[in-house]
Amino acid sequence: ITLVNDLLDAQKLDLKKIKFSYENIDVVYLLDSLISNISNIAKQKNAEIVNSSEQNFIIESDRNRLEQVLNNLIYNAIDFVPKFTGRIEINATKNHSAAIFYVKDNGPGIEPTKNKDIFKKFYQTDTSATRKHGGSGLGLSICQGIVEGLGGKIWVESEVGKGTTFYFKIPLSSKHI
Ligand code: ADP
Repeated sequence: ITLVNDLLDAQKLDLKKIKFSYENIDVVYLLDSLISNISNIAKQKNAEIVNSSEQNFIIESDRNRLEQVLNNLIYNAIDFVPKFTGRIEINATKNHSAAIFYVKDNGPGIEPTKNKDIFKKFYQTDTSATRKHGGSGLGLSICQGIVEGLGGKIWVESEVGKGTTFYFKIPLSSKHI
């Protein structure tokens, strides 16, 4: 079901057929509720997830699509952090007419040469049959499609052996798109 939904989303985003529905969202509350929904999965790995946002604010955006992007990044982070010492930090900050979100992990990191490729459809850095990370390689391309559809951009900063941070920036309201 996940794969079919991902394929449909990827196709709709390619064809610019996704319609966004905007509503006011309490950002820190949203991050806290995502963390609490995911806490059982994080517990299986003894990973710590924290929301380090310092200020609350309201954003006018598409709640389901914003949750989809954040969940995708958080699930990837949980998957890649080491068992027992995994740490994931989630943050949202208001900046003029935009909100900047990040999901930071202390996983294996991504080689700089692959920073662009990971957003391509079906791309996975490890294609070996023994790899532990599942998935279809569609998640980040869908995140990019949604973020750009919301008028923003997504990027990654990573250091091999230290960890990875995915950032995305989206307008604070539909007026700013
Ligand atoms: P999937 O998770 O289905 O493989 P994604 O598009 O979400 O697809 O991710 C593509 C690839 O990017 C992953 O297979 C992995 O190689 C790399 N990647 C994504 N998130 C992380 C992360 N937090 N740490 C290390 N590598 C990552």
